[in-house]
Amino acid sequence: MVDMDKIVSLCKRRGFIFQSSEIYGGTGSCWDYGPLGVELKNNVKRLWWRDCVQSRSDMVGLDASILMHPRVWRASGHLDHFTDPMVDCRACKRRFRADKIDEEEWVHYCEATKGNRFTIPGGQACKHCHHLRSLCPACGKGELTEARQFNLMFKTFMGPVEDDAALTYLRPETAQGIFVNFDNVLQSMRMKLPFGIAQIGKAFRNEITPGNFTFRTREFEQMEIEFFVMPGTDEEWHQRWIDERFAWYPRYGMRKENLRLREHGKDELAHYAKRTADILKQHAQFSGTALEYFDEESKQKLVPYVIEPSAGADRATLAFLVDAYHEEEVREEKRVVLRFHAELAPLKIAVLPLLKKNNRIVETAKQLTADLRRRWHAVYDDTASIGRLYRRQDEVGTPFCVTVDVQTVGDEKAAADDKVTIRDRDTMEQVRVPIDNLEPVMTELMAGHWSAVACRLGLIKN
Ligand SMILES: [Zn+2]
Ligand SMILES: [Zn+2]
Repeated sequence: MVDMDKIVSLCKRRGFIFQSSEIYGGTGSCWDYGPLGVELKNNVKRLWWRDCVQSRSDMVGLDASILMHPRVWRASGHLDHFTDPMVDCRACKRRFRADKIDEEEWVHYCEATKGNRFTIPGGQACKHCHHLRSLCPACGKGELTEARQFNLMFKTFMGPVEDDAALTYLRPETAQGIFVNFDNVLQSMRMKLPFGIAQIGKAFRNEITPGNFTFRTREFEQMEIEFFVMPGTDEEWHQRWIDERFAWYPRYGMRKENLRLREHGKDELAHYAKRTADILKQHAQFSGTALEYFDEESKQKLVPYVIEPSAGADRATLAFLVDAYHEEEVREEKRVVLRFHAELAPLKIAVLPLLKKNNRIVETAKQLTADLRRRWHAVYDDTASIGRLYRRQDEVGTPFCVTVDVQTVGDEKAAADDKVTIRDRDTMEQVRVPIDNLEPVMTELMAGHWSAVACRLGLIKN
């Protein structure tokens, strides 16, 4: 098990994820992706898009706006039902989810012990007076209000006038943008069932109890798919999508033992494909636009069933981060390494000069960085000794380091050999490659062929 605090601390120290508005004390459960974090998350989204949209003939993409017509949320049921029951403390004004409040630890001033203050685990009674919690769990003093339904959608106003007519919402899910565009996509792209529409975008939920780093946040990014099928084929498609999505994470290095499938019950499944079809019907009714599909074979109009094999961009990013994190002993020192798949790694190559006072080495290394940058995200770093530079790159998951040394550029004693050293992050093995050959070798390495390359070129001893 990886200690989450270590991940959070590494994320901040190495520019993956920062607390939002940190210099103002932070905003609750909002996070900013730093220079390396945005690269990682963009890679997750790019691979998902490539695999789920571009490489399939039955999928197309969409990017709907975040602000939608308010009636969308009436039709989808979010205005009436996207709520949590909340209670408020009359004393400290804190707000709690009525259905979760008994899971929280609670503060208790015990009359059986002269009013001493205790903190008692959620659901348990006081050992002294045997009372269960009845007051506010946080302050231990305030009475709680009756439960009220609290809508999780963020409200805002469209246009210059802040009245009810201008009230609208930040979308709590990206799916509705797909549903309301069903007919547009169907007609413009001449789609035939089964087909899917995918989109990546932000969604907002005013969660009362967010937490666990970027796992549950109020603003998050979804990678959504609505896959429309003929009624009756939904169970088969549901299974195909489970298999497809389940195979996706290991393709980019996630260990299978870290993946778990939460199986839907049969009833749950039937209800769910039907439920998404009902949303299309609701939008048809509320908007007055038919959202139907004309089946050429039966010459009948029908409302398709919908499979929703969606994923969270932030959650997938966090999962890849946690899965990649390793600590190991190397020469009696701790090495922290993020074993990212090369396609996910924020930086692909670091070019390091062995001596930063040697101008020829530095110039060659900088020129090499510029050349490599045309194809890969490469960086140049000369701000520490080579050992430290390697460790820094290990810690952010850079798959390969390229080192320029005296032999590369030559000196009074020996002519330049025009070769550089490539070091592999995971094995820490090294090979020496002619600069002219660096690009094709790197291409091979990025495809995951270190051992073949090492075998051909021979490892160098160090
Ligand atoms: Zn209170
Ligand atoms: Zn007590």
